[in-house]
This record gives sequence, C-alpha cells and structure tokens, in this order.
Amino acid sequence: MAVSTTADWSDPITCPFCGDELASPGAGFVDHVDENGDCKRDFDLWRENVAGDLAGEWSG
Ligand SMILES: [Zn+2]
Repeated sequence: MAVSTTADWSDPITCPFCGDELASPGAGFVDHVDENGDCKRDFDLWRENVAGDLAGEWSG
C-alpha cells in the first residue's frame, strides 16, 4: 500500500492523530473524533486522501 500519511494505525485502541487511548477499537474511535474537533478534521482529511485507494475496505 502506497498511502503516505501521518496517521499510525498500528495500534487500534490509540487515536493515530492525538495518541489518546480509545474506549474501544473502531466504535471508540468514531466517538473519539466526534468529541475531538482536531482529530475529526484530521480524520476527515485522511479519509479523503485514502478514499480512492481504500474504497470498500474501510468499514468503520
Ligand atoms: Zn484523537
């Protein structure tokens, strides 16, 4: 995969944008970005960047 991003998804229970621990993998991240505007903005940017490459693979 050739996606270049600052996000680090190697740890699913840690927010890759701010490093906070999430309540749970996946769903916890969705709640997290809802409560953290900076992370939501970064996540939206990241999602736009990879949407073309990962269409269908991101099922969060
Ligand atoms: Zn965060």
